[in-house]
Amino acid sequence: MLWMTLRPSADVEAVASVDTHSTSAVEADPIAGAALHEPRHDEPQPEPGLPADDELAALSAMKAKVLCGTEFKGTLPHVAQVGHLLQTMFGVGDIGGAHGRYDGDHGAGRALDVMTSNTVLGNTIAEFVLANKARFGVTYVIWQQRYNDGSGWSYMEDRGSPTQNHYDHVHISFQSSGAANIAC
Ligand SMILES: [Zn+2]
Repeated sequence: MLWMTLRPSADVEAVASVDTHSTSAVEADPIAGAALHEPRHDEPQPEPGLPADDELAALSAMKAKVLCGTEFKGTLPHVAQVGHLLQTMFGVGDIGGAHGRYDGDHGAGRALDVMTSNTVLGNTIAEFVLANKARFGVTYVIWQQRYNDGSGWSYMEDRGSPTQNHYDHVHISFQSSGAANIAC
């Protein structure tokens, strides 16, 4: 069990499929059960972190599957969930949070920088988070030298570089508290 948790899921699947064909059903069964997060009643659970109660274990597995992760580059939990959601929905690999930042909303874990210079993608992400402004706890978005707090876009002063003018990333600021109940 511990060995499986240390391997990437792709390796686990590969090993599981090999075992299904090369070993008996008795050996294949525990692998299938573990993959489905179903603790076996007749075997001790070696991981110290696993809850002993079966219902609690099942509930934890369900939560892990449904809710977006609440840790993302030092941001607050509800901000982190939006970071994970945007990665999942739009495939943006580079999203900045609080790590390495000491300024304003970023330093406080209340902001994300979604790195893209693609106008269509940036527009789509900006409109998506503004359409879910209340649910995500968003306060405002900056994109392509424009600011929007939900009441429409307004142009900003020239700050100098493309980064400072937000032509290479969508900046999203958030309220300091949120529900952190977003599903991924
Ligand atoms: Zn930013």
